[in-house]
Amino acid sequence: MSIFPAAIQERALALEKVAEALEQRYGVPHKDPPSDPLEVLISTILSQNTNDRNRYLAYAKLKERFPTYEAILAADQEEIAQAIKVGGLAQQKAGRIKEILCWVRERWGRVTLSPICEMGTEEAMGVLLGLRGVGLKTANCVLAFGCGRDVFPVDTHILRVTKRLGLIPANVTAERAHKLLAPLVPIGKAISLHLNLIRYGREICRARQPRCGLCLFPELCTVPLEARGERRLAQR
Ligand code: SF4
Repeated sequence: MSIFPAAIQERALALEKVAEALEQRYGVPHKDPPSDPLEVLISTILSQNTNDRNRYLAYAKLKERFPTYEAILAADQEEIAQAIKVGGLAQQKAGRIKEILCWVRERWGRVTLSPICEMGTEEAMGVLLGLRGVGLKTANCVLAFGCGRDVFPVDTHILRVTKRLGLIPANVTAERAHKLLAPLVPIGKAISLHLNLIRYGREICRARQPRCGLCLFPELCTVPLEARGERRLAQR
């Protein structure tokens, strides 16, 4: 007998079907070997409140201006902010990046975050969430893409799509969504589902003018039919 109440089981089954349908549609995304967890952390901080293009540019500029972590540590916050300004919130992000680099050097005697990959997921999550500017999305990204863990970061696309599909309530925050969705994700499928849902959110279930005529899950969608019909007309 399952330990989950019926409503949760139902959502877990629905999410499993979504994962399968997306893999049929898009395939199983290529799983890159884990990157350096500190790079993932910095890149995810740079992605906060901006789009992929500006996050990429900010990261490239940071690397160009400061080729090593030691160079970032030797710089003052203003110089770092100048390098990453294309991504917005530059002073805040610069301060957090520098603070994190100082913290890892102090904790492990060198500028690395790799020891968190040796920890259990719960312990590693606790360490990451203790850092200023690191929330559940960032911590899950570091563990997923920096350590290869089967954990499920919830970004803005995933939050929107899973709400529309009725997998989580419409009024929950992103932080709460992590807690509600994590136990529903099929084991071993977290990264595939994460990447495919983002693609689905960008291509089909878009924030504005979703392409409802191409939807793979009309039977799950909680958006009223009339609203969906209007949205279909709106994109013609
Ligand atoms: S019907 Fe439209 S709004 Fe609903 S899940 Fe599908 S694409 Fe998104």
